[in-house]
Amino acid sequence: MTSLQALATHLDDFWPQTFADDWDNVGLSAGSLSAEIETILVAVDLTDAVIDEALAAKCQLIITHHPLLLKPIGSLDESKLKGHLLARLIRGNLSHFVAHTNADVQLDGASTAMANAFGLEQVEPLVPQSKTLGHGAIGELPEQTTLSQFAKLVSASLPKTGRRVVFSGNPDQQIKRVAICSGAGDSLIPFVLDSDADVYVTSDLRHHPVLDAVATPRKGNPIALIDVSHWAAESLWVESAVRRLSAIPGVSALASRINTDPWTQEVN
Ligand SMILES: [Zn+2]
Repeated sequence: MTSLQALATHLDDFWPQTFADDWDNVGLSAGSLSAEIETILVAVDLTDAVIDEALAAKCQLIITHHPLLLKPIGSLDESKLKGHLLARLIRGNLSHFVAHTNADVQLDGASTAMANAFGLEQVEPLVPQSKTLGHGAIGELPEQTTLSQFAKLVSASLPKTGRRVVFSGNPDQQIKRVAICSGAGDSLIPFVLDSDADVYVTSDLRHHPVLDAVATPRKGNPIALIDVSHWAAESLWVESAVRRLSAIPGVSALASRINTDPWTQEVN
């Protein structure tokens, strides 16, 4: 057991808040620094089901990838979602901590975890801030394959959800260099188009950015795109976080078993 105050020092070492994007809201979002922490639950999102899971496992702290409070809230009105979730945390003596873009930019962030799951080699940040920090990841498959075969590998490497893996491009196109951004990676498309990647794997891609990206002339083949579930992609980070937390004396960390993908069913 350790105080949240003492634990926060480790958390800030793991995921320095200065690494977060300006728009992000990371660190402690609920709880008292004097709280005693013994068991930590790590999840992608803070939902009712995740709070239920934390209470059942007798956790005192939930660490999520996604912030609970990205926009300011005007009250703790429990008829509204954020007030409801915060009230449940407070009544359950649960603290809540967020490691988001400050975790993404590191070498064990969600994009690198995906790169490892796909077996990529020589993995580096896609948009480097330094040698070891940056957004997204880019790396190489050990052997060239086709887009359709690689898309099958992507699908098989991620947890199953209600959202299918889809791709855009010639199924027989040869794939060797792979760019990745785990969460909603529209904004990195210009960097991908400038890179030597054959394919870009990300989540939450929208109609117009895809239409434009695949039609953009570039050196070599047009870019191929693979769209995956945001939750499935970032659930891979949960194990990275548990590994880091397990090195802290006096606390134990559990990976959430709750699938928080809001897409629940695909239609065949
Ligand atoms: Zn995300």
